[in-house]
Amino acid sequence: MKKVLLGSTGMEVSPLIFGSLPMGPLQAAKPPEEGGRLIRYALERGINMIDTAELYENYGHIREALAGYRGRCYLASKTHASDPETARKHVERALRELAVDHLDVVHVHAARIADPLVERRSVIDVLLQMREEGKIAHVGLSSHYICAVRKAAASPDIAVVHPLINHRGMGILDGTAEQMAAAIAEVAEAGKGVYAMKALAGGNLIGEARMSLSYVLGLAGVHGVAVGMLSEREVDANIALFSGAELDPAQWETLESGRRQLKIMERFCKGCGACVPACTNFALSLVDGKARVDEQRCILCGYCAAACPEFIIRVV
Ligand code: SF4
Ligand code: SF4
Repeated sequence: MKKVLLGSTGMEVSPLIFGSLPMGPLQAAKPPEEGGRLIRYALERGINMIDTAELYENYGHIREALAGYRGRCYLASKTHASDPETARKHVERALRELAVDHLDVVHVHAARIADPLVERRSVIDVLLQMREEGKIAHVGLSSHYICAVRKAAASPDIAVVHPLINHRGMGILDGTAEQMAAAIAEVAEAGKGVYAMKALAGGNLIGEARMSLSYVLGLAGVHGVAVGMLSEREVDANIALFSGAELDPAQWETLESGRRQLKIMERFCKGCGACVPACTNFALSLVDGKARVDEQRCILCGYCAAACPEFIIRVV
């Protein structure tokens, strides 16, 4: 698979980036050995970057994939910490559990914060310090906000931006897909690396996957797209799509007929409300003492699942 430069980072990455969220316990809950085998399959076919996060709880899967692997694989993780001590712990945990001596990118994971450069200043500072210590190569910002992406263009501290974009604009918190696309072009023009998230809106756009992925990949300034994959068939199909190879229509029609949804086991819901503020898209509410999802707003990210003390939310 051809490689592209991720902005001014010097990283030469495959435009198809392995999104590891869906295989972890928040979603498909694949065992680490099985998830690791799938990631390794993707690495051996030319994908050379994996996107993960402290919240995804899947470092074990990635460690399995990397064990004995001799190729170059870039690792990007994220910290949702709001204070520097916790952010440092998140990075140290990633290094330990991934069994690596540095991470290529660590993002400030602040999807719901309009101005993370101000509100997460102390976290950015500790990440910069860890960059000096050699534990992080680049500091990044992952965001669902257009204004945050735009502001990152002017920040010397942020080298990589991980914005939410899909052709419907699902999950963008302060505007349209067109406005986010303009902000992406701006931030890339400023020399930042850009790889997109939620091109399929967490699976909502699976029925039009080819068009949705091509839309994001074709945007000015997008160097790569993180795509969650759960089977070798998906890896093969996406590699073909991202390489501009001839596509197998029957294979894609099968993939596009798959559907995913958020399942809340209502019977066991205690109505505690802990999941509601965990949703970055304001898709959850309590109705008659039970959690209820607004499917028009839900992008199937699974973050609410991590917040539920009863473990009764799943993306299936
Ligand atoms: S309801 Fe849950 S899965 Fe859906 S967008 Fe909100 S946090 Fe993500
Ligand atoms: S966190 Fe879990 S138990 Fe609490 S309201 Fe949400 S779904 Fe129900």
